[in-house]
Amino acid sequence: MAIVESVAAEGSGRRRLRLRNPATLEPIDEIEVQTATDVRAAVEQARKTQPEWAGLKVAERGRILARAIPELLARQEEFLDVIVRETGKPRAEALAVELLAACDAIQFYTKRAPKMLADRTVPMHLLKTKKLRISYRPLGVVGIITPWNFPFMLALSPTIQALMAGNAVVLKPSEVTPFSALLIQDLLRSARIPDGLFQVVLGDGETGAALVEAGVNKISFTGSVRTGRKVGEACGRNLIPFTLELGGKDPMIVCADADLERAANGAVYGAFSNAGQVCVSTERVYVVEEVADAFTRKVIEKTAALRQGANGEFDVGPMIWPTQLETVERHVEDARARGAAVHTGGRRNPDFPGLFYEPTVLTGVTQDMMVMREETFGPVLPILRVRDEEEALRLANDSRYGLNANVWTRDRRKGERLAKAVQSGSVVVNDCMLTYGATESPFGGVKESGIGQVNGEIGLRSYCHAQSIIIDRFGAKSEVLWYPYSAKKLAWLQRVLRWVWGTPLGRLLS
Ligand code: NAD
Repeated sequence: MAIVESVAAEGSGRRRLRLRNPATLEPIDEIEVQTATDVRAAVEQARKTQPEWAGLKVAERGRILARAIPELLARQEEFLDVIVRETGKPRAEALAVELLAACDAIQFYTKRAPKMLADRTVPMHLLKTKKLRISYRPLGVVGIITPWNFPFMLALSPTIQALMAGNAVVLKPSEVTPFSALLIQDLLRSARIPDGLFQVVLGDGETGAALVEAGVNKISFTGSVRTGRKVGEACGRNLIPFTLELGGKDPMIVCADADLERAANGAVYGAFSNAGQVCVSTERVYVVEEVADAFTRKVIEKTAALRQGANGEFDVGPMIWPTQLETVERHVEDARARGAAVHTGGRRNPDFPGLFYEPTVLTGVTQDMMVMREETFGPVLPILRVRDEEEALRLANDSRYGLNANVWTRDRRKGERLAKAVQSGSVVVNDCMLTYGATESPFGGVKESGIGQVNGEIGLRSYCHAQSIIIDRFGAKSEVLWYPYSAKKLAWLQRVLRWVWGTPLGRLLS
C-alpha cells in the first residue's frame, strides 16, 4: 500500500496528499501541495526579511537561535511522537540521531559561528603595500530540499547553518515526512526569529523543482543521485551555487588484525540502524579470508538477535517508503538467483502490516551483483571474502559512489593509510557512520555521491560568499604598474622577475 496517496483537491484547487504511518499503515494526516506561485511568494517574503537578519551581528543571531534548545528539550516527547509516527523508527534512535544531534548542531553553530565567520586579515605574501580582508557575506535566500530518512535532523542542521550565516531559508521537506519539518518551523517561531525568515513549503518533486526556479541564491539538496542530477542541472542553468548530498554504497573493510567483536557489532549497527536507510549505511563488507568465517558467524548471530517492531522496545523499524522496499527486494532476489546464501531475513516480515523487511545477511555474493553495485538503502548486509587488504581496497573503490567508508584494524597507522586510499568523501576507522554527526567534520561525497560539502567550518562558510576586500595601506599617488608604460618600467619589471623568482633569497621571501 502507498503511504503517500493523492486525494481529491479541495476549495483551493491545490493537489492534496494523504500520508500513512509506514509501520502501521494507519492514516496520519493530509498536506496541500504548494504551487510554484506559493513557492515564489515564500521566497519573496524571505527576501524582504533577510537584510534585517543579515544586519545583526553573528553572535546576536546565535543568541536568538539558541533559544530553540530549551524549547526542544521541553517538548522532546511531542517531537518524538511526530517523528516516530511518520517514520516508524525506534524512539531511542529518533532521540539519538534526530533530537540529540539537532541540539548539538544548534549549540555548535550558535556558539562557534561568530568565530568561524569573523572577518579576517590574510597576510599578503607579495603585495606588502596592501591589506587583504576576507568577509563572509550572506548569499540571500537559501533553498533547502531534504529527504525522508532523517526528516528532522537533515532539515534542521543546514537550516541552522544557513541562518547563522545571515541568510533566509525556504525549506522543502520530503512529501513522505513533512510533519517533522513543520516542527522546525514551530521551534524557530518559538525562538522568535523575524517573521518570514524561515518558511516551509510542502509538496513533492514539483514543489522542489519550483523552489530551484524561484530566484533563490543557493540550493542545498540532500537526496538521491537521480534527483540531484536534475537539481544540479537546474542550478547550473540559473547560475546559482549548490551542494548535492547524494546516495552512497559504503564499503566496510575488515583486516585480519581487526577486533572482530567490535567490527561485527559495528557491521550490524552500520547496516541495520534506521533499517539501513542511512546515506552512510554500511552497504557492503570486504573481509579478509583469515578472519572471514569468525567475523561472518558473529554478524549472523548478532543480526538474528535484532528485534523488529512498531511499539515498545525494538531495534529495527520499517522501511519508510514503499519504492525503497521494492529496491531492497529486487537486490536480494538478484543476489539469491545468482547463488548468494541468505543467512537471516531475505523477506518482508509477515508479523507486521507495515513496510517491514527483515534484517538480511548475505554471503557468497560477487562484485557484479546489484546488491554490491547499486544503493540498496535498506536492511541488507552482503559480505564478500577477499584474499587480502589490497583486494578489499580495489573492490571498495570499484564503485560509482564515494560517500563514506569504514576500515577495521588494530593498527591505527595502517587504518589511516587504508583510509587515504579509499575513494570516499569521508572514512571512519574502527567505527562507522559517525561523519555526519561529528559536527566539526566536513561532510560530502566524491564521484556520484555528491558535489560540495556541508557541516563544520567549511560547510558553514559555504552558505556565504567569501568577499575579498583589498585595502591600499599607504596612499601613494600612483602605483608602479599603473600608466605610463616605458622602457625604464619594462627593465625594472624584468629585474623584479629575475630577483623574486630567479634567486634563492627571492624565492624564500615570496
Ligand atoms: P529523492 O531524491 O527522491 O527526494 C529528495 C527530495 O527532493 C524530496 O524532498 C523530493 O520531494 C525532492 N524532489 C524530487 N524531485 C525533485 C525535483 N525535480 N527538483 C527538486 N526537488 C525534487 O530522495 P529520497 O528518496 O527522499 O531520499 C533517499 C536518498 O537520499 C538516498 O539516495 C540517500 O542516500 C540520499 N541521502 C543522502 C544523504 C547525504 O547526506 N549524502 C543523506 C540522506 C539521504
